[in-house]
Amino acid sequence: MVQDSKRTRPNILVTGTPGTGKTTTSAALAESTQLRHISIGDLVREKNLHDGWDDELECHIINEDLVCDELEDVMEQGGNIVDYHGCDFFPERWFDRVVVLQTDNSVLYDRLSKRGYTGAKLTNNIECEIFQVLLEEAKESYPENTVAALKSDTIEDITRNVTTLTDWVRSWQPTPQ
Ligand code: ADP
Ligand code: MN
Repeated sequence: MVQDSKRTRPNILVTGTPGTGKTTTSAALAESTQLRHISIGDLVREKNLHDGWDDELECHIINEDLVCDELEDVMEQGGNIVDYHGCDFFPERWFDRVVVLQTDNSVLYDRLSKRGYTGAKLTNNIECEIFQVLLEEAKESYPENTVAALKSDTIEDITRNVTTLTDWVRSWQPTPQ
């Protein structure tokens, strides 16, 4: 695995289908570890790192190159939790751990409905979860021992995941070069 020797704290990617709890989990993990929570969706909106609005998918068309340029320095420093529903365009070397959150379909359906998702946007995301699109994407993009799928159906799952990841962060050591 290619690792950046300058990092003194790890970088974690939290990914998964929309609604699986990435932002909730990342915020709680940031609080318990003092790592920096970076929501890519917010960053894209705040810094206009997009190529307009996709009417069909009802989301910004993210400009992946601009996002990666924007984050390069901060990722080199380490100590980041990156929160995004995609994972294949970030440089592999950025992350020490890639967490894929997974939620039972019926639970996810209710969460996304509550969020106001309907029609194609709702069914696309449910299919994304059924076919484990993000887990496959993560496995194709990062070393196998870096990727972990974690269940996120209940509040107890979030608490357990945050505890497990906090322990991992505390025991993380940079690989000697
Ligand atoms: P994401 O960032 O992956 O889209 P959020 O963290 O915004 O997901 O969560 C979406 C909604 O679902 C929020 O209302 C959140 O409180 C709820 N939620 C997320 N994960 C869980 C969970 N494991 N148990 C209970 N509720 C959850
Ligand atoms: Mn989110």
